[in-house]
Amino acid sequence: MSWSVLSTWKMSLEGCRIAAQQLAKGATAADALVAGIENVEDNPKFCSVGFGGLPARDGHVYLDGGFMDGDTLRFGAVGSIEGFRSPIRIARSLSVYKFNNFLVGQGAEAYAKAHGFEARDNRTSKSQARWEAEKDHTQDLVSYDGHDTVCFLTRDDAGTSCAGVSTSGLFLKEPGRVGDSPVIGSGFYADSEIGSAAATGVGEEIMKGALSHTAVLYMKAGFTAQQAAERAVLELDAALTRRNGSCNAISLIAMDRDGKFGVGTNIVFPFVYASDTQEPTLYLAQRDGMRTVYEAVTDIDSVVQD
Ligand code: ASP
Repeated sequence: MSWSVLSTWKMSLEGCRIAAQQLAKGATAADALVAGIENVEDNPKFCSVGFGGLPARDGHVYLDGGFMDGDTLRFGAVGSIEGFRSPIRIARSLSVYKFNNFLVGQGAEAYAKAHGFEARDNRTSKSQARWEAEKDHTQDLVSYDGHDTVCFLTRDDAGTSCAGVSTSGLFLKEPGRVGDSPVIGSGFYADSEIGSAAATGVGEEIMKGALSHTAVLYMKAGFTAQQAAERAVLELDAALTRRNGSCNAISLIAMDRDGKFGVGTNIVFPFVYASDTQEPTLYLAQRDGMRTVYEAVTDIDSVVQD
């Protein structure tokens, strides 16, 4: 058997390394995934996840997170939660229950407090300065520019696949807005018998295609992870462009049950992959007609991360 990790954006490089080290030592897919995502949640240099995340229109930082265990199909998620360190950790904890797996707002915060999850004010001077500078200019923002979700797909030695995501969502979003990220099937999905997928980009578009589940269904139908990822993304892009005149940025990572990866995007999209036979590697993907092509990045500093 073998293990692998696939994650979104350059900001996940260090987290991918941590998850890979853990999987190499025999950690479960779930533990390695949480360790990888938490590394991004804790780093205030990354402006769209966790500490220092993007503020909503009212200046508060509301976070979303989701987790799925591909063996049991159990999932947990939090939406629009404020004042806690790790949405992914809270989401994972919710996945063990039979009911009440997806909590939002005050309910999620009450649960997190009652269960002893670490509190943290996720506003930083940098995030507040950005909010101050742009809060009155929402009209000029192109699709609420400046957002990225950290998504991790992990597969461990025992063949278990997990999916997890964490994000502050769109910059200057309406308080109460929840994107695709914590929505099972849209932001993330994992089935150890088939494969897993997770999405990043404009949630209002991703939800229209229930994108992550669509990619997993394509793998179930026999497509490779690469074919499934590019089909899911570029067919949705085509459908929305035909019906609405355009489709905002959408990207998706997918991993089959054997740990092989795929990527689909309609923008230029960095992602990271590691496995028992490959060191963590940063790739850059882009659209090529109805395909998505990618190559390994040799000069890591040439890829910028907000
Ligand atoms: N999908 C996230 C959201 O819409 C943002 C992102 O991944 O860029 O909240």
